[in-house]
Amino acid sequence: MREIILLKQGEMVLKGLNRRGFEDKLMGNARRRLKKHGSFQVYTRQSTTYVEPQDEGCDLEGAWQAMGKLFGVAGLCRAQSCAKDKQAIVACAKEYLGDQLRQAKSFKVESKRADKTFPMTSIQLSQYVGGALHDAFPHLAVDVHNPQLTVHVEVRDYEAFVHADAQAGAGGLPVGMGGRALSLLSGGIDSPVASWMVAKRGVIVDMIHYYSYPYTSPEAKEKVLELARLLVPYLGKTCVHVVPFTAVQETLRRACPEELFTLLMRRFMMRIACQVAQHNGIQALVTGESVGQVASQTLEALACTDAVCTLPVLRPVVGMDKEEIVAVARRIGTFETSILPYEDCCTVFTPRHPRTRPRVEQLEQAEAVLDVQAMVDEAVAGIQRVVLEL
Ligand code: ATP
Ligand code: MG
Repeated sequence: MREIILLKQGEMVLKGLNRRGFEDKLMGNARRRLKKHGSFQVYTRQSTTYVEPQDEGCDLEGAWQAMGKLFGVAGLCRAQSCAKDKQAIVACAKEYLGDQLRQAKSFKVESKRADKTFPMTSIQLSQYVGGALHDAFPHLAVDVHNPQLTVHVEVRDYEAFVHADAQAGAGGLPVGMGGRALSLLSGGIDSPVASWMVAKRGVIVDMIHYYSYPYTSPEAKEKVLELARLLVPYLGKTCVHVVPFTAVQETLRRACPEELFTLLMRRFMMRIACQVAQHNGIQALVTGESVGQVASQTLEALACTDAVCTLPVLRPVVGMDKEEIVAVARRIGTFETSILPYEDCCTVFTPRHPRTRPRVEQLEQAEAVLDVQAMVDEAVAGIQRVVLEL
């Protein structure tokens, strides 16, 4: 008897010819995450990926937590193995799912046979196991349409498995199937959620963070790295490009109109991010902007920042309310870190009256006195790269 983990594929089952590619990527991503939890065998049959511990030393609980954060998995459950024998299957279900059977009011049994030489059909097996469980737990009503608990029985080549319904997985597509993006990560609530959402669609996400030492503290930078670390179980290995931004900000403050400061700064963030992305073969940027959230996120302001971008800018939280973003942040575990009270470079020189309806020409005019490319190059030259591994 041993316990294994089953992963149900999400929307990748809809992929036609390149479905194999998606499955291989999912298995590779699973194996990398399982490494630190022991020796596991990972393989796929009929849209289900099996994660089987190979020895006693495996940390199944750790593996279970890790698989819950694996994009491409729509649902997952634990299953118990037993002998391919109807009585052994009943005994296994009684013991393994005992608590759930006691708590449920209604149930049904669903069987699958991979081994067609098994002496009962799936229907016969379901009826047999269902009858025996009903005898053992007489309070249970049989409900084949809307049961509270479904007992799944799978008869495989060498053994049988028993499990309850799958619980929701992380969803999305396997990371690595959707290209690579660079996410502008601040210490706030929105940008970690935005990064997570893009990775969920199968995109490898690297990060870029701008800091303004000594106006912002080393702790503020550490907080951002901690946010990135919290995302690693979802994203996989990632690289954080840490950009010294003080010189750019001081130049803007000295040379440009105060009410345009935030937007000018944001245009520099975008320029620097585009340059880093292009050097690293990255195809898109990601931000945590949401329409109307602050002055720099009106449609006019977004147009002004987009005007300097040479890559598409993905804004996955663009239509979400703050409360909805917070709900995701809590679910993925970044919220508590995001609300730690450290200053961000954006708040350092915030103008008292920022422009909410800026025009691109005004910004271009303000930038005419600057050597834009030299400022970008200097910032890029000072970048420190922090690689975060699984
Ligand atoms: P967050 O969006 O992270 O909650 P916020 O709403 O305060 O923070 P803004 O200052 O409005 O963010 O900036 C909007 C977006 O710009 C952020 O979501 C993030 O993508 C990017 N950004 C802001 N500050 C930084 C920074 N210091 N480094 C990297 N990206 C940043
Ligand atoms: Mg925001």
